[in-house]
Amino acid sequence: MNQIEKDQEFVWHPFTQIKTEATPIHIVKAKGATLIDAAGKKYIDCNSSWWVNIHGHGNKFIGRAISEQFKKIDHIIFAGATHDKAIELAEKIVNKLPSPLSKVFFSDDGSTAIEVALKMAIQYWHNKNENRKKILAIDGAYHGDTFGAMSVGERGVFNIPFEPLFFHVDFLDFPTIEKEKELLTKAHELLKTNEFAALILEPLVQGSAGMRIYRPEFLDELVKIAKKHKTLVIFDEVMTGWGRTGKWFALDHIQEIPDIVCLSKGLTGGVLPLGLTVATKEIFNAFLSDEKRKAFLHGHSFTGNPLACAAACASIDIMESQKTWESIERISSRNQHFLQEIRNHSAVKDARCLGTILAIEINVSNESSYFNSIRDEAYHFFLENGLWIRPLGNVIFVNPPYCLTHSEQNRIFAILKSFLKKIEI
Ligand code: PMP
Repeated sequence: MNQIEKDQEFVWHPFTQIKTEATPIHIVKAKGATLIDAAGKKYIDCNSSWWVNIHGHGNKFIGRAISEQFKKIDHIIFAGATHDKAIELAEKIVNKLPSPLSKVFFSDDGSTAIEVALKMAIQYWHNKNENRKKILAIDGAYHGDTFGAMSVGERGVFNIPFEPLFFHVDFLDFPTIEKEKELLTKAHELLKTNEFAALILEPLVQGSAGMRIYRPEFLDELVKIAKKHKTLVIFDEVMTGWGRTGKWFALDHIQEIPDIVCLSKGLTGGVLPLGLTVATKEIFNAFLSDEKRKAFLHGHSFTGNPLACAAACASIDIMESQKTWESIERISSRNQHFLQEIRNHSAVKDARCLGTILAIEINVSNESSYFNSIRDEAYHFFLENGLWIRPLGNVIFVNPPYCLTHSEQNRIFAILKSFLKKIEI
């Protein structure tokens, strides 16, 4: 059996209808923004390998940090013990976030960071003997694939079998400019009941919904309303964190401050899995008691994994460098120019960008959904042309590693244009 045959024999891939989809591409090397397959073909990793790999593959600085850490401690239990890299990382994160956010809880990935946030919010009210159990979320959201995360996300094709088991969640429509006012009124009406434990949302950009962008002014107003009614505000910055939106975090675009922030993906430079849920001191204090049951009785075997923490500390050090921000600025401003070039193309329904995220929504005669057939056509066209782009239905998007060179970005633009030409109406 060759490697692909073995893969087909033994491996079950995520988000894949294995019966009908093409066999996976066997990647044998990843360097910078480039992936290389077994036949030697190169692809630009336009989506940073599921939006995680922010500094490019094989970053030596992160590699050295992991290797040095391995020589000291590989992994230890994180209850009853601590270690230097977890302390260093928590301090770095707290220094980067607005000051009320000051307690860092460790988990494994984006979904677990969300589960932790939801459980924290619900137990916060429980510990305070207040009957607030409801959650408010936004239509189209994606917060992960575990049960709590699915419950607060878009209900649809992805989770039909599980829906009967989800807890009740109230949803606001996606805030298009036209709907903003009506939604703020609705939020006020719901939250004034004082039944809501938390509001959870992806700040400024809904990633999986197709990189849908909304206005910071709306976000500020919505958070204000939640705060007025003492509802805890959870920002899912799993995708928007780490420079993606042109600032460290999406919350840096607004005035209001959430009570809980979830971080993952680019946190370790996309090299090792790690999730963080950062809460205010006020939330943390509600778990302090002489009674053990009031503690946050939650944890995962790999909580605070020292290798992942070392990678995260190194990734943040790279984020601190001027060079990284110059790259983010360069990618972002060139995206803006490209947007103007293609905005009025007949194949383009909408084109949008924020920071290093560029998204092109293709005009389709049928429904705009994840399963739209243009998705497969685009995916294969880009692979043939050496771009690794995984469209979200009829939305083609690019969120590359920040090490992307000028010429690699030119190549992406040229191939995007040739795809638009190919499907021109
Ligand atoms: N929240 C957001 C906004 C995400 O984009 C994702 C993953 N795409 C998640 C949560 C879940 O993260 P993970 O896949 O690491 O569980």
